[in-house]
Formats: sequence, structure tokens, C-alpha cells
Amino acid sequence: MTKIHNLTNATKTVWAGERDYLAHGATQVPVVHSVSFGYEDVDEWFEVAIGEKEGHIYGRNTNPTVQAFEDKVKILEGAESATSFSTGMAAISNSLSTFLKPGDRVVSIKDTYGGTNKIFSEFLPKLNIDVELCETANHEQMETEIAKGCNLLYLETPTNPTVKITDIKRMVKAAKAVDALVFVDNTFATPMNQNPLALGADLVIHSATKFLGGHADALGGVVCGSEDLVEQIYHYREINGATLDPMAAYLLLRGMKTLHLRNERQSASAMKIANYLKQHEAIDAVFYPGLETHPNHDIAKKQMKYFGGMLSFSLKEGLDGVREFLPRLQYANRAANLGSVETVVGPARTTSHVECTPEERKALGIPEGLVRYSVGIEDVDDLLADLENALSYIAVKN
Ligand SMILES: *Cc1c(COP(=O)(O)O)cnc(C)c1O
Repeated sequence: MTKIHNLTNATKTVWAGERDYLAHGATQVPVVHSVSFGYEDVDEWFEVAIGEKEGHIYGRNTNPTVQAFEDKVKILEGAESATSFSTGMAAISNSLSTFLKPGDRVVSIKDTYGGTNKIFSEFLPKLNIDVELCETANHEQMETEIAKGCNLLYLETPTNPTVKITDIKRMVKAAKAVDALVFVDNTFATPMNQNPLALGADLVIHSATKFLGGHADALGGVVCGSEDLVEQIYHYREINGATLDPMAAYLLLRGMKTLHLRNERQSASAMKIANYLKQHEAIDAVFYPGLETHPNHDIAKKQMKYFGGMLSFSLKEGLDGVREFLPRLQYANRAANLGSVETVVGPARTTSHVECTPEERKALGIPEGLVRYSVGIEDVDDLLADLENALSYIAVKN
């Protein structure tokens, strides 16, 4: 039989990681709701409990459905090991907490996901952990800060909401020179477009709530990396308890079967939509790494397969324009999530950066009229027509 790791993503998303968990001839992974797992033989129970024999003891530690989900992501990211969490934020906070201690120094970027940014600005400083947030995509500044010494480099690329790109390989080189761990939030790119571990990162993190699940009906998070690192994170999580629920694991697993198809469609549609918006008179700027006008298009081309389904654009009429435009879209959920089969749209000021003041958003380069658009799997011509119609309501005052 062909080894699964020689297969391409289209086949892996469908088949990988599932076979070991099928029972009674079932072709689909069962949702195992049992909280605990019983043993007749006391010695066997003991061996499983101390990790000498494979098996399950208690649902906060491991569960077969959850493990099938972890196995699929692990294979897609080309990792040795993976462990999962109740949410993406749990994956991020647990991973940071596993390795950081008072006196440590973290280097990251200003544009990380809003929740991650709160950990950096609010929670880590309380533990006497120093965090230096660099201008996103300013590689020289990051290199300077890393060279001053740091324990952990935390990256996210592309970022929310202006899809900025950081050169992972280049930053890994700088971090390794000072023996720092490198974490990469790969939520926007998905394992279909970018594999940070192959570029030298130590840990890749996903909010599975977004593209992995793809249907906006289950929360989850997952981290992948070496067995040594993931084992330590797993231990932190099994004790602290941010465990992924088996039902959510099943929904995420099922969603992932179409990840490859969804990503191809969403990436192709996003490219067309970005090109359409770029020439529209009501639009001030379009942010999409696939556009040649994107400041880091070259890096994106080098480290990503496709450019993904996330784009954003700013309206010339600012927030007034957003108020006119958004309610008129017929094929987009106005909501805070992203990465779903349905198109999802929202202004940055009410979604990713709702906690910021207008001044802070300005400092981050987020115009008040910025709209984040997560492209769904609908027919792209229908989406273009929907955008055209909604934009026609904005009177551009030239
Ligand atoms: C949504 C998101 C998170 C947080 O994930 P949750 O599942 O909502 O906790 C982290 N990083 C990125 C890039 C995200 O988009």
C-alpha cells in the first residue's frame, strides 16, 4: 500500500488519520461520548494510565474521536505530533503558558489576532514576561529585537485584517541564532497553503474554528510540532483542562474532508474578487497577498501555495460607506467569524479590532472604512454581482 505521507493534500484531507478509529465496519469515525474508559485487568489499566500502553482513561486527557481529529491535522501539517484544545485561544494560551516563565522575553508582531494581542499586552506582563511587539512585516525591526535576546518568537501570517505577510524562514533563522522557540499561527493560510514546520518553525497553531472546520458550527484549536514539545503542551492542557469536546472534534474532522476543495475554490474566488475591487471607484485600497501590489507579494509567493480566502478592502467613504454597503450584501453573513463555506463579512472596527480605540486602529494601519471579507464557496460570479450591487449604493463624493 502507498504510504499516506506520499499522498497529496486532496487525498489526505479525505482519508488521513481515520482508519485506526473505525469500529464495527463503520466507514466514518464514531463520536465517542464516554467520559471514562474501563479496564477489566488492573495491570493493563495501570499500563495505560502511565502511558506504557496505548489507550484511553479519562476524557479530559484523551478521547478516540478527538485523537482522530489530531491525527488528521498532524498529517496535513507534516508534524510528528499534535494535540487539540477547546478553542484556538486555548491552543495559543496553553502553548505560551507551557514554555514561558517570569523573566522571559517574547518577540511578536502588532497585528496578531485580537485575543493573542490581549495575552501579550494584558496577561503576560502581569507574569513579568516582557513582550516586544514589532511593526508587522518589518523584518529588520524584528531581527534587531530578536538579536537582543528572546525565548520565544510568535508569528502569524497572513494577519488579520490587512493580510500582512511575514517571511517565516528568515525569522526562523534569526530566532534560532538566539535559541528561541518559534510559534506560527497558521489559521489564515491553512495547512493547504503553508506548512510553517517545513520552514523551520517549532510549533504551528490553528484556530480549527475557522478554515479547518469550515462550517462555523464548532469551536476548536490544535497545535502541531515535535513529539517533545507537543507532549509538554499536552501535559499542560490535560491538567488545566481546555479539552476539545468529542462532538466538536467530529464536526471539525468532517469539515476537514473538504478543506482542500474549499481552499482551492476560496483562493481562486478571492483572487478574482480582489482584482474586481481594485478597479472599483468606491474602493480606496484592497489588501490581498495574491495581488502584485501587495507589499510582500514576493514572500507570499515563496512560502504559500495559494493565497487563501481572506481579503480586506477600504471604502473611500469610510465608516459612512460601510453603513450603506454592508446591509445590502445578500450573500454574506455579517458576523465575527471567518473561514466558513458561506461568505462572511464585517468591519474591522466591530470584529478583529473592536477593543481598540480609533487612534489605536489608525496606528495599526486599519482604516475606519475597512471591510474584512472571508470568501465562501459560492459561485464567484454571484459574489461579484452581490458586491457590485451593494457598492452601487455608495455615492462617492469626488
Ligand atoms: C479566530 C482566531 C483565533 C482564535 O480562535 P478561537 O477558536 O476563536 O479561540 C486565533 N488566531 C486567529 C488567526 C484567528 O482567526
